[in-house]
Amino acid sequence: MYIIVALAIVIAIVLAGTSRSRRRNKASVLPAGSRGMLLQYVPFFAALDEAQQAAFEERVRDFLSRTAITGVGVKVTDLDKLLVAAGAIIPIFAFPDWRYNNLNEVLVYPTTFNRDYKYEGDERDVLGMVGDGAMHRQMILSQPSIRQSFLNPEDGHNTVIHEFAHLIDKADGSVDGVPEYLLKRPYAIAWLQHIRAAINDMRREGHSDINLYGATNEAEFFAVITEYLFERPHQLQEHHPELYAMLSQMFRGEQRS
Ligand SMILES: [Zn+2]
Repeated sequence: MYIIVALAIVIAIVLAGTSRSRRRNKASVLPAGSRGMLLQYVPFFAALDEAQQAAFEERVRDFLSRTAITGVGVKVTDLDKLLVAAGAIIPIFAFPDWRYNNLNEVLVYPTTFNRDYKYEGDERDVLGMVGDGAMHRQMILSQPSIRQSFLNPEDGHNTVIHEFAHLIDKADGSVDGVPEYLLKRPYAIAWLQHIRAAINDMRREGHSDINLYGATNEAEFFAVITEYLFERPHQLQEHHPELYAMLSQMFRGEQRS
């Protein structure tokens, strides 16, 4: 009798383990055809040399082995997973040891959603979000915004990179527009002065080549300008040479010492 009970418990634990791992769906190898998809949809990857591409693929594989990409009412494709991972790796590619220790899972919603993480009803204007409170260590992205981020690589918008910029900002404990792991004082002070000046310009003029959502606060400015840097670097350099210089140095790791 005891043996049967013990056996039942063991079987239950094993089943629970396999169903959880299946549901969380973490990948330890890259999906078939990954290289071709990255070449086709991720210009950042296509522009790398062979050794860098191999390193990028390894980073993508590592990210997907640590991070569950889970569809909520939607089927997540291999391409969706690759695009999420690419958006995670692009901004921190210059930092070989970077891991998103503040993220366990990316939830993929079928459409935009509202600020209560609901994707039915009114006010569904949110394309992506870094979770807080009960949703801590989770990110939500809408499936159309994942695809749109990369299908139109030069429109200056990339929701995936935007949300990962928030996570990079959050890694030091506060989402305040100053990613302290990427820039040390006194760079941080100069950076804050720059972004406050840019926000003031945007508010005063009411239009800008920078997405006006960035004028919401310093944290949104950092996320928006990071999208701009990786989508349209030449245009950013032309219109805002100082911002461009600081930001590109930051993401190359040149402001950490
Ligand atoms: Zn944001």
